[in-house]
Amino acid sequence: MSATIRLDYLSIFPDYFDVLHISLLGKAVEHGIVEVHSWDLRDWTHDRHRTVDDTPCGGGAGMVMKPEPWGEALDELLGTEADPSIHIVVPTPSGYPFRQQDAEELSGVTRIVFCCGRYEGIDHRVLDYARERWSVHELSLGDYVLNGGEVAALAITEAVVRLVPGVIGNPESLTEESYSDAQEGLLEYPNFTRPVSWRGLEVPEVLMSGHHGRIAQWRHDRSVEITRSRRPDLI
Ligand code: SAM
Repeated sequence: MSATIRLDYLSIFPDYFDVLHISLLGKAVEHGIVEVHSWDLRDWTHDRHRTVDDTPCGGGAGMVMKPEPWGEALDELLGTEADPSIHIVVPTPSGYPFRQQDAEELSGVTRIVFCCGRYEGIDHRVLDYARERWSVHELSLGDYVLNGGEVAALAITEAVVRLVPGVIGNPESLTEESYSDAQEGLLEYPNFTRPVSWRGLEVPEVLMSGHHGRIAQWRHDRSVEITRSRRPDLI
């Protein structure tokens, strides 16, 4: 049986992706739902120092990732024929903000290749080359700068893979989360479990009332309150 989705990671630190074999992702890999491969970009260099970077054209601080190793790696992994069903994810702080909707869209595809930049990023022509052949997504994890794309690729992977059918045992737990349709795109209400009294702090009484209508109303009101104060842009 072939996997539902195949994920490839191109990076100069392929060991970063060892964590894909832990927890729910690891189980999804073990059960053959997800296939993962991580590749060392330096394997597509041809000099003694396995060089992947060079100084920026136009000057400035830092180094830029050279286009040749990226081009050769992508050609070897994907061929040179155009195939828009193949998705290339390029994590970058200048990308579109990565949202739950993107995770939902990507969870329905069969192949994603993550291109993890380092230094000042990847020579822009690599993206133009890829865009002519495959579906390219430049995605930002948030308004801050990481050292490399690996952590961003892992975060995107986790958000995507948990939506792939069969990965999470109880799919209902996905529908009631923050940003979900059932939550009207709002942030989730606070959650509690037993004991009802803990260190002088009580579970809100309504949650122990057994009254489904009042519980739903309380949760909705808390969701609106939290969303309004933390993320008014979502209202
Ligand atoms: N020169 C880039 C800029 O100012 O936009 C920053 C490059 S950053 C030091 C190196 C790599 O980290 C990027 O190519 C990207 O792969 C990754 N990265 C950094 N911040 C990120 C973010 N917020 N979201 C996604 N990827 C990020």
